[in-house]
Amino acid sequence: MKLQIGILSVQGDVMENVITTQDALKELGESGEVKMVKTPQEIEQVDGLIIPGGESTMIGQLSLVNGALKKIKEKIESGMPVLGICAGLILLSKNAKDRIVGKTDQPLLDLLDVQVERNSFGRQRESFEADISMEKCGISNFKGVFIRAPSISETGSNVETISKFNDKIVAVKQGNILGTAFHPELTTDTALHKYFVSMVKQSK
Ligand code: GLN
Repeated sequence: MKLQIGILSVQGDVMENVITTQDALKELGESGEVKMVKTPQEIEQVDGLIIPGGESTMIGQLSLVNGALKKIKEKIESGMPVLGICAGLILLSKNAKDRIVGKTDQPLLDLLDVQVERNSFGRQRESFEADISMEKCGISNFKGVFIRAPSISETGSNVETISKFNDKIVAVKQGNILGTAFHPELTTDTALHKYFVSMVKQSK
């Protein structure tokens, strides 16, 4: 059975996720296809979706206007696995506010039961890399690339903390929803994408 994995292609790290997901499929020996998706019709076809990093306000607003947000929400609610990276994590959340400007009136999917703090580690020039671990995903050492990254300040009881950095939560899982504050597509390590591919496979 061929897995169809979609990369939401509105803005942000789209190609990097296409390539890393293709590499993950190849390394797992899994037959599958990685598709760039944007419209509700395209999103309807996929078994799993990655929402890349970029600018959450822009990805959210454009996806709201073309009806993609509604389709994504329906599919996640009916069990489709989703990986939200950085801006993608913000979009999945129920509550997001900026560290400096506070509440921003931005469209959210309102599914992941967390409070997200946007730009939690500072501005672009405060971007950094750090070694993190995600034992619950079977990944003991991973290079986290943080670019204007959010962190998670509160989690609901159904949310598992997957990783912390400097006491801040930077990766979480809630059933079929996986979210990271850092960018796994910007390393040569496919471990997290492979973990996501296995979530998609299990859900089929
Ligand atoms: N700071 C961005 C936002 O709030 C996210 C940054 C990123 O995805 N690298 O949308």
